[in-house]
Amino acid sequence: MATGKEIVVSGIRSTGFLHLGNYFGAIRNYIRMQEDYDCYFFVADWHSLTTHPDPKDLRGNVFRVLAENIASGLDPEKVALYAQSDVPEIAELYLLLNMLAYKGELEKVPTFKDKVRLQPQNVNAGLLTYPVLMSADILVHRAVKVPVGKDQEQHLEMARNFAQRFNNRYGQLFPEPVAFNFGDNLIRIPSLDGTGKMSKSENEMATLYLADTDEQIRKKIMKAKTDSGPLEPGAPMPETIANLFLLMQQVSAPAVISDFERAYQDQAIRYGDLKKQLAEDMVRFIAPIREKAQELQQDKPYLNRIMKAGAEKARASAAQTLQAARKLIGIDYY
Ligand code: ATP
Ligand code: MG
Repeated sequence: MATGKEIVVSGIRSTGFLHLGNYFGAIRNYIRMQEDYDCYFFVADWHSLTTHPDPKDLRGNVFRVLAENIASGLDPEKVALYAQSDVPEIAELYLLLNMLAYKGELEKVPTFKDKVRLQPQNVNAGLLTYPVLMSADILVHRAVKVPVGKDQEQHLEMARNFAQRFNNRYGQLFPEPVAFNFGDNLIRIPSLDGTGKMSKSENEMATLYLADTDEQIRKKIMKAKTDSGPLEPGAPMPETIANLFLLMQQVSAPAVISDFERAYQDQAIRYGDLKKQLAEDMVRFIAPIREKAQELQQDKPYLNRIMKAGAEKARASAAQTLQAARKLIGIDYY
């Protein structure tokens, strides 16, 4: 249905508990976009199959991702919220785009190389063609903006390449989608031990989840790595400290942040106090989301209704794209 609004697509894998990176990199943008854009947000259940999850865990993860999105403020009446596997047109477009994706370029993708290193016993074709499926997720709705965290920047570039290749070969069909974040730069929430990004499938103690209890939040933040403090006035901030300030910027009051920043500049900062403040502000931020998400997960019929309605809307949009794609390619016979 043409609404005249710009089309937006984004997905989250059903690989575990959502964390602050998912929230600030993706979900916060979803919520801010839901009024003014035509939004398609999905649980990327096919994408999570690359690691062969237990079917029971996978189902639970899918429902939790839905519930945590809604609990964060996403309104399923305003957006299409669906499971990727409920939209078979995505798989069809994935097949078509695979004909335009080359082995060499897929093997060079850094996230693929990382996985080869981390799971050498399971380097399956789904892993290799992950960016093609992701491109199909986006292009199937002919989206122009894709709210994602910084870790997805390169995959977006590939989606633009595939769109361009298709358009050049068969005729104009796809806009070239761009990664999007309110406030310009794409965001990356680092893990609390500074060894990488917060992530669903790694490093549990250094990741803050939307389902963490107040005690878990306090414990993880108090354990975050710091050092012995600035050695001279105005000393540059080491990464671990900058990371704590980055989190503070997301959840604390501006006056509180500037007090701590001034204390850092004056070498008067006490990291224990900084962490205590951050922990309390984080508890205040996470607790209502956690509680609402728990409540929603009890109501499977409601979540099922949302998913079904979302899939219907997504399929209507996807079917139009596939019809046009088949025609351009020359496989429309009837
Ligand atoms: P997995 O480890 O299973 O890949 P993940 O935490 O990387 O899980 P994804 O489902 O791959 O999460 O990504 C969902 C969205 O969250 C994407 O838009 C991604 O860019 C964003 N995202 C994930 N981690 C972070 C992070 N640490 N900072 C900012 N954005 C993030
Ligand atoms: Mg990821």
